[in-house]
Amino acid sequence: MLAVLLVAALSLAPLVAEPRAVAPFDHVVVISVDGLRPDILEGPSLASLPNFARLLRGPHTLNARTDSQHTNTLPNHISMATGRPVHGPYGHCWTGNTDPPSAAAGGTLHINKGAYITSMFDVAHDAGLSTALATTKTKFWIFEQSYCWAAGAPDTTPPDNGNAKIDFVTFSEQTRELAGAVADRLRRASTRTLDFVHLAAPDVAGHGYDWTLAPGSPYVASVGEVDRALGTLFQAIDADAELRGHTAIILTSDHGGGVPRKTHTDITCPLNFRIPFIVWLGDQAASTDLYAINPTRARLESEQIGERDAEFQPIRNGDAANAALQLLGLPTIAGSFYGVKAPLQIVAP
Ligand SMILES: [Zn+2]
Repeated sequence: MLAVLLVAALSLAPLVAEPRAVAPFDHVVVISVDGLRPDILEGPSLASLPNFARLLRGPHTLNARTDSQHTNTLPNHISMATGRPVHGPYGHCWTGNTDPPSAAAGGTLHINKGAYITSMFDVAHDAGLSTALATTKTKFWIFEQSYCWAAGAPDTTPPDNGNAKIDFVTFSEQTRELAGAVADRLRRASTRTLDFVHLAAPDVAGHGYDWTLAPGSPYVASVGEVDRALGTLFQAIDADAELRGHTAIILTSDHGGGVPRKTHTDITCPLNFRIPFIVWLGDQAASTDLYAINPTRARLESEQIGERDAEFQPIRNGDAANAALQLLGLPTIAGSFYGVKAPLQIVAP
């Protein structure tokens, strides 16, 4: 009888399309390249971006989307860290894009929303991981103010890892210096880690000179600078047996740019709202189209940004948070939206 049941079970197995889980990684680095347009990764420029090319050996799409209602910096980064859209019932509701007011003057995500906004830092830190934010813009202080000891939520599952959800905050306007600091932190890691790294150089070049992909333009040079920063991280990972094979990277962007010229404020323009979403699982992973393995996601036409409350969402930068936690083998963020009902399938089923 047992054999019969076993045969029956085996014969049913191929009919059940269970997602194939990715073995948990010990280290995940979420990188946001501010103002990165995906078309620079599609054209001949890629030949001079070896580290971006290496990232593209993993599952990815160059047809991801920003928030449906905002193509500016801080609201989109808060979506990346919280898994929430900006507005709506699941929204984090932070629309400011300048240095936040002090916490005492209302400068936390929770005061602004009127409820605690849990982040990927909360989930990882409460699970005992070491967490970090490395950024090139001072407005990111909103994260420190929202997840410091005074503002972070108590850790209610023993052991108590404390209210401060971000262990290390690093700021530098220099891409190279910031990448070096992140690489040093990874080399020294004695526990599992989750890092959120923000590299602003392409945005700075775009605002200063335009988002032109012409060879030799400041924008192209700035993406080259980011490529070298990625190389610094890869060097640290490649050289360390505790990192190599145990580290995953998610790279996305807060917006593209170029419409109107020197900015990215036109919400209707694909140059502004189309962004990359790249997952690197090590060099052995297949270079998969994320939409091809995610039938629960809407592969939109190039001129569509997608509606905020649509049942079938495109892959958005707001997927970064729960995708990072998935790679670490951790649960999704309480109150979040992206990747909850339709978790991002990262490897082919
Ligand atoms: Zn930006």
